[in-house]
Amino acid sequence: MALAVGLSDDREAHQHLPVLLPGRVVTVPQRIQRKRAKGWRMPEGAVYVGRPTIFGNPFLVGVTFCGPTIKTLPNVDAVVQQFSHWLSLDTLDHRCWDNLLVVAHVRLKAALAGGALRNRDLACWCPLWQPCHADVLLELANSDVS
Ligand SMILES: [Zn+2]
Repeated sequence: MALAVGLSDDREAHQHLPVLLPGRVVTVPQRIQRKRAKGWRMPEGAVYVGRPTIFGNPFLVGVTFCGPTIKTLPNVDAVVQQFSHWLSLDTLDHRCWDNLLVVAHVRLKAALAGGALRNRDLACWCPLWQPCHADVLLELANSDVS
């Protein structure tokens, strides 16, 4: 099955990008697109971060949700931005936010703080050319390494 476009195929082989540091070689965690294709398997060590895991993005396109401001998220960009904003907050005021979002926030923050996703490749269903909450998670999971 030959496709005309090969743009998103570079990562197909799932090669870690090697980074050279003095005395050691480390790899940079990256995002993987999960597939339903027969025979496809999650690469070893990768973590699925879609729904309904605790790492899933609770925000959806078009859904009006309860928060300090009520919004309707028009597209994927907005959904990822909302996820990023939500996760950047230290705590959520339960009088403003839906209880499910408060609980999900606490669990996800705790998992991130515990290093659950550190140095892991993250898998989601989103095509790699599209913004995805996994990008936000990759950033957060690996940014505060001391
Ligand atoms: Zn995604």
